[in-house]
Amino acid sequence: DGNAAPRRIKALDPDVVNKIAAGEIIVAPVHALKELIENAVDAGSTSLEILVKDGGLKLLQITDNGSGIDKEDLTILCERFTTSKLQKFEDLQEIATYGFRGEALASISHIAHLSVTTRTNNSDCAWRAFYDSGRLAPAKPGQPSDPKPTAGRQGTQITVEDLFYNVPSRRRAFRSASDEYNKIIDMVGRYAIHCHHVAFSCKKHGESSTSISVPANASDVDRIRQIYGASVASELIPFSTSDDRWGFKAKGLATNANYNIKKTTLLLFINHRCVESSNIRKAIEQTYSPFLPKNGHPFVYLSLEIDPQRVDVNVHPTKREVNFLNEDEIIQALCEHIRSKLAAVDTSRTFLTQT
Ligand code: ADP
Ligand code: MG
Repeated sequence: DGNAAPRRIKALDPDVVNKIAAGEIIVAPVHALKELIENAVDAGSTSLEILVKDGGLKLLQITDNGSGIDKEDLTILCERFTTSKLQKFEDLQEIATYGFRGEALASISHIAHLSVTTRTNNSDCAWRAFYDSGRLAPAKPGQPSDPKPTAGRQGTQITVEDLFYNVPSRRRAFRSASDEYNKIIDMVGRYAIHCHHVAFSCKKHGESSTSISVPANASDVDRIRQIYGASVASELIPFSTSDDRWGFKAKGLATNANYNIKKTTLLLFINHRCVESSNIRKAIEQTYSPFLPKNGHPFVYLSLEIDPQRVDVNVHPTKREVNFLNEDEIIQALCEHIRSKLAAVDTSRTFLTQT
């Protein structure tokens, strides 16, 4: 009623704030895994092994052979906004474009059971630590929280168990573990194609065969063959173009007119981050339509590097969409280039069949 006294405004407890933020950043297991993959690649790893149980809801484990983490840093590892990545201003801008400035591990530790085993090349042993809500936690109630020495190779193993155990409404929303696993395989496949010189494997817990397995020395085309099959891999045209006016470089592999599928497969990386862009997707589909039968679509792997200052950071992190300056001009230049490549292949093919 009109006579009610206003409720007093109070600051939320930081743990509550962090838990809310975590739920926005990590909507599904695949989002946690994407952050962990990026961290492993950032650490200079040349091998990433991924293990998944119940679509990542029960277990997500990623083992890398990267730099490892200093024992001294383990105390603050999962605090929000702690990072080792800002050295120069350009780095800040690049990371700012995607919005996870030391937030990923913190977020995960608020909504899952997180443990880390890590070893640097100048340490005699590996160290194992457990985290809860941003802080070191005991492995079992009553035990001390500090990291414990253990055996292990150089690199880092991150184990995320029982994701969303304390967010029951979110946990219940996941109906099918296999849908979540398919999203994971899709994401791992994308990074496995983009991250040259890195070996990837991804496996379901309890199964002997891997869903994805790519050696470190595999070429782009080999990677695509392993993950998307030989019929795509044998019809790829490499492309590469750039324009200083719009501050971009683009390169990738796109199928020629001999190949088509029902739905466009676009593996898009902007500044090495896996993103979606409905504008780029539409423009590519238009570029291909004169070359393909009705309802036929291409496979395109596109790595776009844009001057970080031109990338708009004001997009929701989980949408994975990204905005950048001169988008129309960049898309036009890129599609013009792809069109010329397709036309060249098409002509030579016609020419060959005629002679
Ligand atoms: P960010 O990646 O934005 O720095 P994160 O929360 O993802 O934030 O990670 C925090 C820090 O933890 C990183 O800056 C890095 O120093 C360290 N780290 C995380 N994962 C790894 C890993 N796999 N190998 C080495 N260091 C890691
Ligand atoms: Mg990170």
